[in-house]
Amino acid sequence: MQPPETMTVSTTSVACDGGEGPLGHPRVYLTLARNGRIDCPYCGRRYVWQAAAPARTGWTLDQVPV
Ligand SMILES: [Zn+2]
Repeated sequence: MQPPETMTVSTTSVACDGGEGPLGHPRVYLTLARNGRIDCPYCGRRYVWQAAAPARTGWTLDQVPV
């Protein structure tokens, strides 16, 4: 099994269907948590709000001013 992917998103709500293959699942809508991220409960993909991505801002996720 492959490790879950991390997806960077620009909105605070995302739709996930798991993509192609064994991780696919019915489309669900997820709202990012206050720390700027959410893990899909179906396929384990992690969605990270782009402004919360440390590579972009130098912040750690705990410092995101949400
Ligand atoms: Zn998913």
